[in-house]
Amino acid sequence: MKKTYVVGGGGGGIASALLASIRGDNVTLFEAHENLGGCASWFDRGPFSFDVGATTLSGMGPGEPLGKLFNLIGEQPQLTVVNPGIVFHLSSGDVLSYYKDFDLWMKELERVFPNLNHRPFWEKVFEINSKAWGLLDNLSSFPFSTIEDFFQILKAPQYFSLYPYLLVSTEMMLKRYNLDHPLYNELLNGILLISAQTEARNLPFLVGAMGLSYPRETFAPVGGMKGFMQFLEKVCHEKNIQVFKSAKVEKIAGHDLVLTDGRSFRGDEFILNLPCWNIPALFPEDKNAFHLERAEEKSAWGAFVVYLGIKANIRDSYHQIHLNHPLVRNYFASFSIPEDLKRAPTGWQSVTISTHIDAASWFEMEKVEYREAKQEIMHLILEDFKKRFDIQETKYVTGGTPKTFERYTGRHLGYVGGLPFLFGSNPWRLIGHKTPISNVFRVGDTTFPGQGVVGVVAGALALHKEMIKK
Ligand SMILES: Cc1cc2nc3c(=O)[nH]c(=O)nc-3n(C[C@H](O)[C@H](O)[C@H](O)COP(=O)(O)OP(=O)(O)OC[C@H]3O[C@@H](n4cnc5c(N)ncnc54)[C@H](O)[C@@H]3O)c2cc1C
Repeated sequence: MKKTYVVGGGGGGIASALLASIRGDNVTLFEAHENLGGCASWFDRGPFSFDVGATTLSGMGPGEPLGKLFNLIGEQPQLTVVNPGIVFHLSSGDVLSYYKDFDLWMKELERVFPNLNHRPFWEKVFEINSKAWGLLDNLSSFPFSTIEDFFQILKAPQYFSLYPYLLVSTEMMLKRYNLDHPLYNELLNGILLISAQTEARNLPFLVGAMGLSYPRETFAPVGGMKGFMQFLEKVCHEKNIQVFKSAKVEKIAGHDLVLTDGRSFRGDEFILNLPCWNIPALFPEDKNAFHLERAEEKSAWGAFVVYLGIKANIRDSYHQIHLNHPLVRNYFASFSIPEDLKRAPTGWQSVTISTHIDAASWFEMEKVEYREAKQEIMHLILEDFKKRFDIQETKYVTGGTPKTFERYTGRHLGYVGGLPFLFGSNPWRLIGHKTPISNVFRVGDTTFPGQGVVGVVAGALALHKEMIKK
């Protein structure tokens, strides 16, 4: 039986471990932290359970990544459908809810932007989105690493109509549909920032349409990310996957994997669920193996987070608030569902607030400057937050910076969220799951198409398909 070692128990690693066990491999998962989940993990404070980063799940449909994964493992986690998926608070003071129902969403847009013709654009968005998942599913090997990989696209002519949308940016499409309005751009760029990690002008419409569709259907796991990760860990045990927590991998040489505590393991294949910047250090004997990735040329966002328990009864779980402040352009506030007593006591809710922030500068600050910068951003966010929502009391208020993410997830410079698929990207240069070392593969949110939990699961499924083909 093939021995497969998965390094990194974030969403991408857990999905890869489960899929490898479905292929019949003898699987071991190594996670450096004491909990699984990585950026989609949790921590407890008193009676509260806080999601550290990711709070929403999406892509549960039968043809979508999480839907497919649960179908393959034969089990479903407990989830609550969140509708409206996200409530947007624009800098103009307008508030609009992104409902699952198309007509309700159109009504919201028409209420806030009465002079614009929304329907044709959004019909296109949802049409492209549903086809795009099919296209991803049909590509048995993407990003291309051989000419043979490239020619596989000819085998799926039903998706030819999608390719032109790789050549037009989402911003160009907005202009084409006469929707180029500053406040509209604020709304759409806000959605794209959380779903695709960049703005409309940088995104091919094929990817932009998927990002814009994301708030249509969001799900909150019961018990938060703690509930979700504990469910996945239980399924790992049921499938005889050995899960080693607090087990940091130091290096891989040939068939040997060595942990920082000195234990070593001999395996056949290695799946690395690590960001691209972290991978070369694991191969001190193959220093040049990963140079083609040019990881040093790539960067991602950092995250600033605030966690707090609140005495309140906020019914809509997810809100994006636009401030257009130079320090915080917008922030995303996630509230636990009031009835979810695994997350907070009766009458209380657990809240995670996050905002995109430049990561590298936090590592250059002196101690005092760092503390002051952290306080300033926390104060700015909390002042606005408390004015906006009806909150009677707060508890356990803490903050986190890119340094915090680096400490807890090991991610280089606290880069999170994944690498965006940029307009004009060369499909030969995207980071795929094959590596220059034949028994080493990659998944995770810097590997195509990973971005968010749904993207890393899509990446794990793509690798699974390729392994079956092999
Ligand atoms: C603030 C914030 C909010 C977000 N919100 C959402 C959201 O609402 N919805 C969504 O879908 N996505 C969201 N995301 C993005 C999402 O969380 C990530 O893209 C996704 O979880 C990344 O998964 P991953 O498996 O690629 O990597 P990670 O989650 O980073 O997992 C990598 C794992 O590897 C472990 N590790 C590192 N080095 C080693 C080593 N040497 N040995 C062993 N283990 C190691 C780490 O401890 C970590 O657990 C958010 C991210 C952040 C930061």
